[in-house]
Amino acid sequence: MDRREIAGLLAYMGRLDPRTMRTDPGELRDQVDQWQELLGDVPLATDYGWDARTAIRSHVVSSPYPVLPVDVARQWAKHSADRLARHTDPVPTADPDDVESWRAELLGTRHAVLAGQRPPNEQRAITSGATVDPAVEARLRAIGSCIPPAVRADLARFRPTRAAREAAAVEGRPDPLAVRCEWCQAPAGEPCRNRRMGLDGGARGNARRSKPHPSRLDLAAAALHRQESAA
Ligand SMILES: [Zn+2]
Repeated sequence: MDRREIAGLLAYMGRLDPRTMRTDPGELRDQVDQWQELLGDVPLATDYGWDARTAIRSHVVSSPYPVLPVDVARQWAKHSADRLARHTDPVPTADPDDVESWRAELLGTRHAVLAGQRPPNEQRAITSGATVDPAVEARLRAIGSCIPPAVRADLARFRPTRAAREAAAVEGRPDPLAVRCEWCQAPAGEPCRNRRMGLDGGARGNARRSKPHPSRLDLAAAALHRQESAA
């Protein structure tokens, strides 16, 4: 803000909070000097959401103390930090092999965002929403997971049941978990369980088995065979 803008801002502030009004010409000049010293770098308003008058007004509304120039400077700092936080560096138009110009363009864009001369480039905001791009969703459904194959392989030892099913599917072997186990009554998708009957007829054990019951494997093989002959 230049001196003229500062004087206008002070007049506006004086109307909202008469305590800050200076009527003596000497005092008014000192006040303009002080404010200009602290707010010389802060714009009066930008096209992208900043207005020093709004900062003054919100301070008057929310605080019992007279507005100080640092209050405006702090609000400006917060405003530009918020903008930069939302900014994602766009790919510069400069030749990537020309490191100097590439760097200068990146920094120039950031400075322009900080100074409120251009809006932040908000690519991140587009992908952070709850809605997923339909094309991405279809691909995820097709591969069945958003975990990359290499990571899935690493995770396999922590999820042996799932890993065994995936291996079976990839190799075209029957997947026992695709069918219900008639032996232990485990529903499709659930691993077999060791059920032991107590003397009173109640179940005594219910531990998961790492391997399915052999009869379930036979059932799965038969189901796979039926599927293949139908296709
Ligand atoms: Zn079973």
